[in-house]
Amino acid sequence: MSTPAAAPPVCVLGLGLIGGSVLRAATATGRRAWGYNRSAHAVEAAVADGFDASTDLAATLARAEDARALVVLAVPVPAVDSILAAIAEHAPNVALTDVVSVKGRIADAVAAHGLSARFVGGHPMAGTAESGWEAGSADLFRDAVWVVTVDDGTDPDVWQHVARLALDCGSVVVPAESREHDSAVARISHLPHILAEALALSGAGGGDLALGLAAGSFRDGTRVAATAPGLVDAMCEGNATALLEALDEAIDVLQAAREQLADGSTGDLTRSGHDARTRYEQRQRHPITGIVPGDDNWIELLRAAGRQGGVWK
Ligand code: NAD
Repeated sequence: MSTPAAAPPVCVLGLGLIGGSVLRAATATGRRAWGYNRSAHAVEAAVADGFDASTDLAATLARAEDARALVVLAVPVPAVDSILAAIAEHAPNVALTDVVSVKGRIADAVAAHGLSARFVGGHPMAGTAESGWEAGSADLFRDAVWVVTVDDGTDPDVWQHVARLALDCGSVVVPAESREHDSAVARISHLPHILAEALALSGAGGGDLALGLAAGSFRDGTRVAATAPGLVDAMCEGNATALLEALDEAIDVLQAAREQLADGSTGDLTRSGHDARTRYEQRQRHPITGIVPGDDNWIELLRAAGRQGGVWK
């Protein structure tokens, strides 16, 4: 059994919507917390709001290394590699997590920089359509789900530090293996975007008459197609492998429905789709108990608990 020390200070790299909200939420719990942002504008705004922030990445990381801080990587995917290189150079011994919405490729990038031993991935399932420091809030993660990864070789102390941070931010923690996470979010987030875009196109293909008749089912089914295309591209392209698998399954379902309809029935699709939606509405979360990070088989046990709807509170 492992008994982690008191919650470490928190160092957030990237002070946009998510990183800025982590800095605010961590500070609000009384933890020592500071952050780095590349642009001076966000740093000036954070400092003006009373937070501890800098544009000097090397100095911010040296401070994290000295304080044995938990470093939170909160930049977009294209920026991850250069920030990891800086961490490997200036803070190779810190505990490290991230908030990026795809997990497998971040774990691969962390491994490529030799930082896996003290890395545990994270994904707070919270956000808004806004970005930047000004959009953040200490309450953004309240009552949200925060995935904390349990990959092979995960350090139990770092896992507990990352889970503690998520809980301190007001979330519940769902443990999941990185690639299982990517597969799950492809199905419940990225595929819905693709299908909504396709449905919007189908409606527009009917011209002004079709769009003029559109009511609730078209509005609800296409709601996320109103998202800025660049954001959808970044999400979908960042999780392409898992999304392709989910998309292939959906195409098979549509193809089977097409064949059935040509024979005069949509029965199989409507019944199984209705059952699946009912299962979603009736899902329940239960607290994970009796698993101690570091005990025998804890990684497998936590993954299984997460799969079964368990949350770490
Ligand atoms: P954001 O645009 O609000 O903030 C991004 C931050 O990264 C900014 O402070 C920017 O200055 C910084 N940055 C960008 N490029 C950089 C570079 N090359 N070097 C250094 N810093 C750079 O975005 P966000 O919504 O806070 O997203 C941050 C991360 O959180 C992303 O990886 C995203 O996948 C993840 N995430 C976003 C949401 C959401 O709903 N927005 C939800 C969960 C997770």
